[in-house]
Parts: sequence; structure tokens; C-alpha cells
Amino acid sequence: MQSKPRILLIYTGGTIGMVKDFETGALKAFNFSELLHNIPELKQLDCHIETISFTEPIDSSNMNPAYWVKMADMVGNHYAKFDGFVVLHGSDTMSYSASALSFMLEHLAKPVVFTGSQLPIGDLRTDAKENLITAIQIASLQHKGKPVIQEVCLYFEYKLYRGNRTTKINAEHFNAFTSPNYPALAESGVHLLVNHAALWPQDKAKKLIVHHQLDSHVVVLKMFPGMNETVLNAVLSIPGLKGIVLETYGSGNAPTENWFVQALKKAIKSGLHVVNVTQCSGGSVRMGQYETSTQLKKIGVISGKDTTTEAAITKLMYLLGQNVAPAVFKTIFETSLRGELS
Ligand code: ASP
Repeated sequence: MQSKPRILLIYTGGTIGMVKDFETGALKAFNFSELLHNIPELKQLDCHIETISFTEPIDSSNMNPAYWVKMADMVGNHYAKFDGFVVLHGSDTMSYSASALSFMLEHLAKPVVFTGSQLPIGDLRTDAKENLITAIQIASLQHKGKPVIQEVCLYFEYKLYRGNRTTKINAEHFNAFTSPNYPALAESGVHLLVNHAALWPQDKAKKLIVHHQLDSHVVVLKMFPGMNETVLNAVLSIPGLKGIVLETYGSGNAPTENWFVQALKKAIKSGLHVVNVTQCSGGSVRMGQYETSTQLKKIGVISGKDTTTEAAITKLMYLLGQNVAPAVFKTIFETSLRGELS
């Protein structure tokens, strides 16, 4: 007889495990063991669950690369012993963390499912129970003794997405996330339907590598009509800056004015990596489609294609941390490493 899947629940913080501070009324993180008391249903699941927690759970607005290393190590250090991982995380920066972990966990062949909730688990109308229970069920899915999902993903409000394709779109609705340019990997209704064709195929012969080096000498710059030379130059002269994610208009368009193009050209020549992503909530960068992006292509701006800003900035940190040679940086960035771009 096959043994039950072993799932590790990693609690990092977030609304799911928060309580109201009696004095201020603000939501703050609380002890993880209390979280499990609130969900006796977990005992009914057909899997073996163990838990591990950040010593000090955080609101995910305090997320940073050091925490990503901690999370990646929690997966790496328990990788052999468990069949799947569920990461409980605040929704605010969940897409950044899921993207970062997707790059840091190379050759991942087991599910790492991020989830959280908009209302605390103790709230009568909470969305936490469904999210948590289904995330665990998804992480437990097996076919012929192997995990069905073998990538970092995000489960929220009946949908499972590839983590590095997601973005948070709503601070009010339970349906807080979307995956603008890639279909859902699974949907939970009366049945749990897996979209097998959309899953990331894994090379099982390769061993998991946990990458620890992330370089955060990066910045996101969102274009807006009226942005002037002083603003651009101030950003370009940030000490030690190595990469910019430029959120441009439409299909990757930006002003054609000389000061703008020349400043970027000079920065790229001196070694800065400039990635073009669209500030639209769907679609792809296509440099050269309009005159307003032709110059960007000529001066060596990297196309983020249909990557989200979350995936682009974390990929930039990851590749800079890997010390990828300047000559191949653009080509590697424009290649899908973990299914983050089409
Ligand atoms: N501020 C919270 C956090 O991201 C929101 C949430 O958990 O959904 O930690």
C-alpha cells in the first residue's frame, strides 16, 4: 500500500494567522500553533502534515530577499522528507515571493504552493479555510507515486496559478490574484480539475539546487507622462545600481525624446541592465512594433515580453546574483527559465 503524501506547512505570517490588537484594532501576526487549533478539518485530510514557522511571523509588506533565502532553505532542508510544501504567506507580496522562489529553486520536482487569505482564519466569513485546505490537497496530488504539480504556484479563491505569472489585483475581493498571461494550472469546483497541458514539465533526473544569491541593486521605474530628465537621472545615478525594470506603456513604448533615449543608452553602455515590461495588466512587450519602442530595441533594452513586474524584478535579482556574464545576460533574461514568460 502506498503511504500518505507528506506535506510541510511553512507559516511565514500574513492575515491568515492574524488577530486584532485589542488596543489599536490593527491586525498583527500571532502564534502559528493557534492557527492549527482553528482548523480541526486538517485532520480529515488524506495526508500527513507537519508544520514549521518563521520564529517571528511577518506581515508580508515586510518581505525581503533575506526572508526568501530563509523560505527557500526551509524547502531545501526538508526536500527529501516531504512530497509537497504549502507556504502560508500574506497576500500583499505573495506574487513577489512566489516568483523569487521559482528562480531560487532550480530543478524543483515537487509542489510549493503559496496561499493565504483576505480575512483571518478565526473570522466567521474567512476565505482562509478553503484556501488552505485546497492548497494542501493540491500539494498532495500524486500520479503513480509522483507529485502532479512540480513547480512553485499560488492558490487563491478556487484557482491555482503558476506563481511567477501572478499579480495581486484586489485588496477587497476574495479573488485577489490573477495570472494575466498564462492560464490557471488547476481550478477547484465540485472537482479539482488540473490543466495538465499548462504544467511546467520537469527533468526528474536533475537534483534540486537552492540558490541563495540575490542582488537587490535594482529598481522599478514606472513611466508616466510628465516624467522629466531630473527624475530619470536621479534614478540612473543610484549608487551601485545594476538593473532597472522599466514599466512602459502598451506594448513596450516610451518617449522618443533625445534626453530619455540618450540617458538610457549611456547607462546600458556602462553596464546597466534595463528590462522593458508593460504597465498594462495583460499582453506583451514588442519592441519595434511602434516608433516609440524602436529606439529602445536599438540601444539594447531587454524585452521582458509578457512577464509580470514581480517576476521581472526577482529574475533580475536572481540573474545578477548568479553573476551572469554581460554578453549573455540579455539572451538569458529573454529566455523562459521557469515558465515566467511566453
Ligand atoms: N498585509 C497582509 C500581508 O500581506 C495582507 C494579507 O495577508 O493578505 O501580510
